[in-house]
This record gives sequence, structure tokens and C-alpha cells, in this order.
Amino acid sequence: MLPQPSTPETLFTYAAPKLKFGPGAVDEIGHDVAALGARSALVVTDTRLMATGHPERVAEALRSAGLRAEVHDSAAVEPSDASLAAAVERAKGAAPFDAVVAVGGGSSIDTAKAVSLLLSNPGELMDYVNAPVGGGRAPEHPVLPVVAVPTTTGTGSESTTICVLDVLAAKVKTGISHERLRPVLAVVDPELTATQPPGVTAAAGMDILCHALESWTARPYTSYEHKSPEQRVPYCGSNPIADMYAERALRLLAGAFRRAVEGDAAARTDMALAATFAGMGFGNAGVHVPHANAYPVAGRVHDLDTDFRPDGYDASEAMVPHGMAVASTAPAAFAMTFEADPARHLAAATWLDPQALDADAPEPERLSAVLRRLMRDIGQPSGLAEIGYTDADVDGIVSGTMQQQRLLATAPREVTEEDIAAVVRASMHHW
Ligand SMILES: [Zn+2]
Repeated sequence: MLPQPSTPETLFTYAAPKLKFGPGAVDEIGHDVAALGARSALVVTDTRLMATGHPERVAEALRSAGLRAEVHDSAAVEPSDASLAAAVERAKGAAPFDAVVAVGGGSSIDTAKAVSLLLSNPGELMDYVNAPVGGGRAPEHPVLPVVAVPTTTGTGSESTTICVLDVLAAKVKTGISHERLRPVLAVVDPELTATQPPGVTAAAGMDILCHALESWTARPYTSYEHKSPEQRVPYCGSNPIADMYAERALRLLAGAFRRAVEGDAAARTDMALAATFAGMGFGNAGVHVPHANAYPVAGRVHDLDTDFRPDGYDASEAMVPHGMAVASTAPAAFAMTFEADPARHLAAATWLDPQALDADAPEPERLSAVLRRLMRDIGQPSGLAEIGYTDADVDGIVSGTMQQQRLLATAPREVTEEDIAAVVRASMHHW
């Protein structure tokens, strides 16, 4: 199913930020940022987060440790080349800083990565964006250390080397990816997510779940061609270390996910832990088909004649949250990848739902059946049709997915346009 490498890769790499986890962790951030040797820090967040008081609480903790701290609400909900360039300009106006502290979801953390890169390296944002959309330049100097304080469970951006952005003129979502962009420290304080509405916990939880499932089922690192150290990318495929984190995340989700959506506090702490475990896995192994499909599913909703508004999101127009977009094709995607490694797909189904192996469903359908049951219980849409997609949209979604070759390259089998079209069609109605 995958071409045999002529010289199989023999090496894998593992990297992760330092971590401080638990209720109250955020109050120690002054100590932790000062310990990096920083005397000043820029706090990057978005306007919605400003209202929660979390960014100012972080800035105060930095100041009480003797640091100069400034807060910029410069992160856009969906970062673009324009929003990131504006955030960088504003930061340059207030510079110098010794560190960048991101408070928020993936968009704040990704904005902080771009700011830290361009406060410490020459050139423009587009120079560093992945080729062929941008120049694909690698940062030649170390970047300012990024400390990530995630306030939405799930994105995993605190663990990854990627800054995702929309390049507006090219109408494409792409990224800047380099080992140096990985945050040096993640401060995960479950109390910061206590006010998260159930709909957000559900969608963000599906993102965590898919991070774990996709990295667990990613093609093994040994299936790639052997690379030189300069060519070796941060996402190296499934490997024994990433596997361990993915398994732990799935077992935690099995016990906590439904209860967290119902508002159980202990379950929310387990979700934050599961998000952290999953980030440590996929931040090295990578993700594949459901995430590749999520880009067009979330992006093309703006072109639909639909008024789809997800519960829990204060959306001014139709939108599909990232985790919901990822989940929307996951059941069919994992049925499609099943043959590449039946044992892994069945193991995941068992961890998520111990009854799964007794189910009547044929083996290739078992993981999909577990996912559908969960998605139904936590209020995810019944399929792409409920969001407003029809068969007329299949080709558009397929072409958007095929642009995500960086992600599809991590799939456990070769994926054709026909494969993706079949997955999208099968995802119109999950039940
Ligand atoms: Zn994700």
C-alpha cells in the first residue's frame, strides 16, 4: 500500500517543551519565565481572551517576578499573513523583549511563534512560510523563547513546531514549520478551561481524540526513505515514544470525554492531561487524513448557503470549529486506513470503548462505530450534510484536501483523490 523505501529510515526523533501542569500552575509563571534568563516578556493573546482576565493575570505574575511585561491582543481567531504581520509590527514597536508568552488557543500560540521568529530573525513573514506558497526559509538565529499557556484544551499548539496561517491572496491555509518554533515551556492550568462551554469541550475533545488516533495510526517512521539530518522533518511518523503518549491519551479520553462535556471538573482535568499527552505524541509523529480534510471543511463553509452555528461558539457567521471539522470525516477516514494496520485500528477501538470488540460491526468498521457513537453522545453534527454540504461540494473538498500533501504524506497508505472523495461522500450522514 505504501511504496517500499529503498533505504529505510532507521532513526526517529522526539522533542517536547518543558511542562508545568495543574491547578494554579499559571500563578508561578513569573518564576518560570525569569528562570529562562528573561527580564522582559510580551504577552500575546486575542481580544476575546482579554475579557476573561487571564492575560492580565499572567502579566501581573510576570511583573511580580520583576519582569517588564506588556500585553498585546494581536492574535486573530484564524491567523492570516495580514494578522501575523500586524502582530509582528506592533511587537517590533514595543521591543526589545526577551521572551514571548502566549495566552489562549492555537491562534494565540501560533501568533506568538510568528512574533518570536520575526523579532529575532531578518526578513518578512512570507520568506519563512512553507514553499511553494512562501519562501520556505529556515530561521538562521535562535528565536525568542515562547512560553505557551493554553486556555482551550485540545489544539496541541503548545507542543508543535508549526504556526498555521491563511495566506489571504492565495486563499490557502499553510504554515511555517521549524524545530526552533516549538515552545520551550507549556504551562497547562486546567482551571483556565473551567468556563469553557460544553460545545467547545466537545469539539476541542474531538481534536484531542483525532490527534491521538492519527499519530497512533500514522505511517511508521521506518516506512520512510532514510534522510540526512538536515532533511529530517519534525513529524517523523509513528514511533515507540509517540505511540506511548497516544495510547495514554486515548485511555484517558475513554473515561473522561463524555463526563467532561457534562461539566464534571475532575473529567476536565483528565481532558487537559489527555490533550497534553496527545500533543506530545502528534507533535512528533504527525497527523493525517482527518486533519487534511478539516482544512477545506472549515474553510469552504463560508462559501455555502448555510447558517450553521455550532453550540458554545459566539459565531457571527457560519463556522465549523477546528475539532468539529477534523471529526467530521474521521469515522470514514479510519475505515479507509484500516487495512494499512488492522491491529492498531482495533487496539484504538478497544481502548476507547472496551465493548467495541464484541460489537457486531465487521472489523474495519469497529473504530468508526466507536467514533460515531461518541460523536452522537456529545452533540457533534450528524454529518457534513447537517453543516450544509451536499454532493455538489465533494470535488471542492477533495481538491482542498489534496493541497495538504504535508499531512497526507503521514497517512499509513497512499491516498488518492478517489479515496478522499469516497470518505467525504460517506461522511454526509453518520447516523
Ligand atoms: Zn488539530
